[in-house]
Amino acid sequence: MYDLVIRRALLCDNRLADVALQDGKIAAVGEVTGRGRRECTLNGRYWLSAGWIDSHVHCYPNSAIYHDEPDSVGVAGGVTTVVDAGSTGADDIDDFWQLTRSARTEVRALLNIARSGILTQNELANMTRIDGQAVKAAIARLPDFIIGLKARISSSVVEQNGVKPLVRAKEIQQENGQLPLMVHIGNNPPDLDEVADLLTRGDIITHCFNGKPNRILTPQGALRAAVSRALQRGVQLDVGHGSASFSFAVAQQAITSGILPFTISSDIYCRNRLNGPVHGLAHVMSKFLHIGMTLPQVIACVTDHAAQALRLENKGRLAVGYAADLTVFDIRKAACLFSDADGQTVSGDRELVPLAAIVGGQVCYTNHGERDNDFSL
Ligand SMILES: [Zn+2]
Repeated sequence: MYDLVIRRALLCDNRLADVALQDGKIAAVGEVTGRGRRECTLNGRYWLSAGWIDSHVHCYPNSAIYHDEPDSVGVAGGVTTVVDAGSTGADDIDDFWQLTRSARTEVRALLNIARSGILTQNELANMTRIDGQAVKAAIARLPDFIIGLKARISSSVVEQNGVKPLVRAKEIQQENGQLPLMVHIGNNPPDLDEVADLLTRGDIITHCFNGKPNRILTPQGALRAAVSRALQRGVQLDVGHGSASFSFAVAQQAITSGILPFTISSDIYCRNRLNGPVHGLAHVMSKFLHIGMTLPQVIACVTDHAAQALRLENKGRLAVGYAADLTVFDIRKAACLFSDADGQTVSGDRELVPLAAIVGGQVCYTNHGERDNDFSL
């Protein structure tokens, strides 16, 4: 007897499948003949994927600047795992960990290399805030919670320091078992070429489709040579939409030239969730459907790719033995308006609507979930 069997789910490759969950893991996928203590059918009408992972959010409730609640950016929007990207550093990571223990969403953190985290906007303007010993001690205290490092390398954050904080970040990364390192790019200096040249295999460039002068494309629309070399070395592109870091023009041009993001993330926090232009991961994913990515490509970016990039073993796949983290969603055909972070709007005709998030086998309905669907988990 399984704990839960979901029948006739529509998968993003258009197959229909049953999925059985047992003891917090996926126990069977395909045609499931065994029974479940709980059963439901999606009637071949609703979609199911591995649980969505948002690889760049801000959800430290005590953050002075970028605060939110994990479940508001997580399960309420169909997201089963959120990765906070550097809201906290070594000084307040323990408080963050403590505050998120009651969340239904799985929360992980990329530790800001500045021990203050994003207490102010210029956390890397003072090099003494980068304390390698404090990073090491924090990782030793919270090895499962801290899954990587975050360094924000743009002019307002580093001020006069250029790429010096990034050089330190790479040293600290090496001292801590080559954890994933996410690097935020924004206004220059430092120039993106200098940043990209320092990155190595597995490092993540977030805000990859920003429309600022430090964008990944040259004024002629080609991929910058330094970014091209970085991608060839195995550096990965992350969207990190946010309030100021996503341009339809850049994304469209990049995707048309075959430069796809490896992960799609929101850079969400309360303000850009409530007022836009982010709203939620599903809304950001819908923008990528609109500009030419396929549903399987978009879903891979928030499942398998995100799990690979952040080394979340056991997550990101709809396969036996993986965590029982699932997202149920609909693709609603209706007129919708999408805005980027540069004030450009485009109208689309379909939108992803999350209906339920299942985390470790536990069902959580989303903001849309119980209102107008005809299944019950
Ligand atoms: Zn961010």
